[in-house]
Amino acid sequence: MNDPSSDAPASPDTLERFITALPKAELHLHLEGSVEPDLLRELGKRNGLHTAGWELAAFERVYQYEDFSGFLQAFKFVSQHLKTPADYEAVTCDLARKLAGQKVSYAEVILSVGVLLWLGRELEPYFEAVTRGAEAGERDHGVKFYWIFDATRQFGIEPAREVARLAARYREQRVVAFGIGGDEAQAPPELFRDVFRAAREEGLHCVAHAGEAAGPESVRAAVELLGAERIGHGLRAASDPSLLELLADRQIPLEVCLSSNVATGVLDRVGNHPLPQFLAAGVPVVLNTDDPAMFRTDLNREYRLAAGTFGLAEEQLSEMARNSFRFAFEKNLPGGRAEEGG
Ligand SMILES: [Zn+2]
Repeated sequence: MNDPSSDAPASPDTLERFITALPKAELHLHLEGSVEPDLLRELGKRNGLHTAGWELAAFERVYQYEDFSGFLQAFKFVSQHLKTPADYEAVTCDLARKLAGQKVSYAEVILSVGVLLWLGRELEPYFEAVTRGAEAGERDHGVKFYWIFDATRQFGIEPAREVARLAARYREQRVVAFGIGGDEAQAPPELFRDVFRAAREEGLHCVAHAGEAAGPESVRAAVELLGAERIGHGLRAASDPSLLELLADRQIPLEVCLSSNVATGVLDRVGNHPLPQFLAAGVPVVLNTDDPAMFRTDLNREYRLAAGTFGLAEEQLSEMARNSFRFAFEKNLPGGRAEEGG
C-alpha cells in the first residue's frame, strides 16, 4: 500500500498548533471505516467469532490492500465483524472520543445501511444503538452527531430505494441525508434517479460518491440527475473545466479525502490530487478523512497533508474548515444550527 504521508514535508510547530486549534466539522466519514483494528479484534473476541484467536497483526493486515476492490473487501470484513447493536454503540462512542481530539464538534457520519440490509439485519436495533452511542458522545465529548444513510451502488436499485425509505423514516432522529457509495464502475448515477427524487421529496438532503473511480460524467450526473448537494471525492471533475465552472457557480462542495485516494489506489501520490485546481476554479472544498482507521489518518493529519503537499496558507486552511460548517446540512433543518467555526 502507498503511504500518503511520504509527500508531506514536516510541518512547523506553528502550523501544527494552528491546525490543532482550528474548529472543524466532518462531513464525509464512514462509521464502519472509523473502527481501529484493536477495537475490531476486541469486539470479535467478545462475539466469539472464528477470528477470536487472531493476533492484532492479523487484523492490521486486513486493513492493507492494493486497490479499490481490495478496500471494498476490507470494508466488508469490518461490517461483517460488527455483529451486534452493542458493537455499533461501542464504535460510535469511540468515534466521538477521537473526533473531540481533532477539535471536531459536528459530524455527519455515513452509516452503510445498504450493507446492514445486505447482511440481513433489521435496521432498527442498530440505529437505536448508534443513537445511544451518539448521545453519549455528545454528553461526554461535546460532539454533535448527524447521520447520512448510504446505499451501496452495486447492490442495485431496489435495495437503494429501501435505504432511502429508511432514511425518511428516521429523518426526525438526526438522519439528514441519503447518499450512494460503493463501486461506481458497476452502477452509474442515472440508475438511481428515481430513488434520489423520492428521497428529496421526503425532505432529505442528497449526497453521492462520484468521480472517484469513474470519470467526470459521474460527477455531472450526480449533480444534474440526482440533485446531489455535495460530492464525495469528485477527483475526476478536474478534467472537465465546464464541470468545475458548474460546481463553482452552484457552490457544490467537493468532500476531499487525500489519504483515502492514495490508499485505495485512485491516485499514485497525494501530490497528484487536483485540490489546487479546485481551489483556483472557486469550487468549495471540505477536507475529510473518509475511513480514518482504514487509511491510518485523522482530520488534523489531512489538514497537515494538504498544507504540506500544496503549500496552502493558513487562510486557505481556515476557509476549508469554515466550509465544513457552511455546508453542513443540520443548520437547514428545523431544531438547530451547526456551530460556526474557524
Ligand atoms: Zn466515502
